[in-house]
Amino acid sequence: MNILVLNCGSSSVKYQLIEVDKKTFLAKGSVDRVGMSGAVLTNTRSDGDEIKITGDILDHTTAIEYILAVLLSKNHGVITSKSEIHAVGHRVVHGGETFTGSVLIDDSVIKGIRDNFEIAPLHNPHNLRGINACQVHLPNIPQVGVFDTAFHHDMPPHAYIYGIPYSLYSQYKIRRYGFHGTSHAYVAHRASELLKKDLKKLKVITCHLGNGCSIAAIDKGISIDTSMGFTPLEGLLMGTRSGDIDVSIILYVMAKEGLNYSEANTLLNKHSGLQGISGVSSDMREVITEMNEGNKKAKLAFDIFCYRVKKYVGSYIAALGGLDALVFTGGIGENSPDVRKAICDNLEYLGIEFDKTANNNKDKEKAITTAKSKAVVYVIPTNEELMIALETKEIVKNTKKK
Ligand code: ADP
Repeated sequence: MNILVLNCGSSSVKYQLIEVDKKTFLAKGSVDRVGMSGAVLTNTRSDGDEIKITGDILDHTTAIEYILAVLLSKNHGVITSKSEIHAVGHRVVHGGETFTGSVLIDDSVIKGIRDNFEIAPLHNPHNLRGINACQVHLPNIPQVGVFDTAFHHDMPPHAYIYGIPYSLYSQYKIRRYGFHGTSHAYVAHRASELLKKDLKKLKVITCHLGNGCSIAAIDKGISIDTSMGFTPLEGLLMGTRSGDIDVSIILYVMAKEGLNYSEANTLLNKHSGLQGISGVSSDMREVITEMNEGNKKAKLAFDIFCYRVKKYVGSYIAALGGLDALVFTGGIGENSPDVRKAICDNLEYLGIEFDKTANNNKDKEKAITTAKSKAVVYVIPTNEELMIALETKEIVKNTKKK
């Protein structure tokens, strides 16, 4: 079964055509600069063949048209007919309280995604554009929505209700939703496979550290708490986002500097985090390079980043009442031994015996604790696209049975 996985952002469409039963991709790529001049599609086939196409790609419908054309092309394609795409799986960022799992997309689902525009204005409208584009170009092929928030849906109220008037939850659905759910779910499952134990018997903490960062406490396969909240701004320090702050600060700065809503939003989401503290970059690689060259602000940004993760790990061990596995994933989690070491240092009293040699070796998937460590720390490359493809397959299969 071939599944086209789509992740539609404001100006980009990322895609993978996945042969789901073999868990491998046939082709993957992205269209960048959608709606701008000089849009470019990059396609890579599993055999390494790569092609770049530039053109006027003014909207998501045209982007999907280009993607299908390259997948079908004689010289660079991987299929000969659209009918070889058996389903489409869409990453949809915000499922709100409506969607507790993946769903086959129909008119009522589209309405549900639209109803969540208000709480996810930066993501859901673009996700829906991708869905509409597929309805145009792949009209008879089942489409499935896989939501970033769904994995966190079973969090208990004491984890998702904020300490503000309850009426704000009743009226506006202001609560913790959590994000990166597909990634947290994927690496938690993979950790249970590596441990050769049922996830339903495990206490796992997963750290997704990329440009956006979040951490989840997973008890018996259920996310019981996570650091991102009503929006992806809360929690860990990120590339350009502040993560946790005393909200009074922003009210104070708005008054002091006469910032409006949009300027305050930009300050917290685009000019904070690693970028805001270091003044160097939002990219952890550049922060580390500068730190090693003696830049004190870069070191401060690095230290704050790692300290914040460590603090959350400690609090989530308390929330879980123990720990079997801690997982690092995302661009930073998978690739930075320095970050992993700073987070795991001196955690022996919590049952984590760090293995520096394993931490530094080049294996992509590995345990980085010693054999006698009570809890195992893993590095596991995330694969959100495969997870979306597997979910899509399940939903399509179950729909056919009905
Ligand atoms: P996104 O969240 O956009 O998917 P990624 O998961 O690719 O992003 O993560 C991007 C982050 O990973 C950047 O901060 C980048 O610097 C960091 N990163 C990638 N490789 C390394 C590395 N070798 N060492 C440290 N950080 C790295």
